[in-house]
Amino acid sequence: MKNKVIILAVLAAFSAISAQSKEITIDGVEGFQDTPMQPDGKWHVHDPARPQPPVVTSGTFSANATPPSDAIVLFDGKDLSQWRDKKTGGPAGWQVEDGVAISAKGDIVTTNVFGDMQLHLEFREPVLKGCEGQDRGNSGVFLMGRYEIQILDCYRNKTYADGAVGGIYGQHPPLANPSRPPGEWQTYDIVFTAPHFAANGEVTTPAFVTVVFNGVVVQNHQVIRGATNWKSPGKYTPHAAELPLALQYHKNAVAFRNIWVRPVSLDNEP
Ligand code: MG
Repeated sequence: MKNKVIILAVLAAFSAISAQSKEITIDGVEGFQDTPMQPDGKWHVHDPARPQPPVVTSGTFSANATPPSDAIVLFDGKDLSQWRDKKTGGPAGWQVEDGVAISAKGDIVTTNVFGDMQLHLEFREPVLKGCEGQDRGNSGVFLMGRYEIQILDCYRNKTYADGAVGGIYGQHPPLANPSRPPGEWQTYDIVFTAPHFAANGEVTTPAFVTVVFNGVVVQNHQVIRGATNWKSPGKYTPHAAELPLALQYHKNAVAFRNIWVRPVSLDNEP
């Protein structure tokens, strides 16, 4: 009898663990509640119960913005010579057609390295049928190759709030959802401040980011809690002051155009 009770208790414990490790759906939003808590202790990472960003109809903003004279143009519609394949270091495997770069095969990184920066880019989500949540038009801008501003088709597509377009992935949901329908061009204007580390590896200043998405501020000088990852609240590991910018390939063909960057300094003194 005693053995039977122990076996039942063990089985119950196992089933509880396996039940918790599954993706769950709350109010039509898929996500997880067996993930670590965010530092504020309110929500799990990718928590489907975390409130959805309010929908805003965007106006016109920086679509087709001409690069300022001191910008480094990363893609002007001609070729991806400013980029390479992240894994192999060889030529970027994305297709360039009709002045547009289409994500494919793997992530791409810039040949240049950047720290503090102003970044402009435009993306267009594919029209996909039968794809929902994180499977609809997933890509991403990886600042310094490790801090992701999510790219996702969130037009009439719910996902866990910290994984929505304009979100700092797994950390901070966007303040609003000004998504345009798939097939239309959308703009990101991003101001990023790189993190700083002491000689012993401790973070002296975290990274900050301001994101304007289709003319709407969706991150306002928000702190980045470390490298962004699936099911992780973010963790810093020390790195160089300047690193390549990366764009993500995540199984969807997302189009990009008009990508340029201006390295900026926090120091306004001459
Ligand atoms: Mg992504």
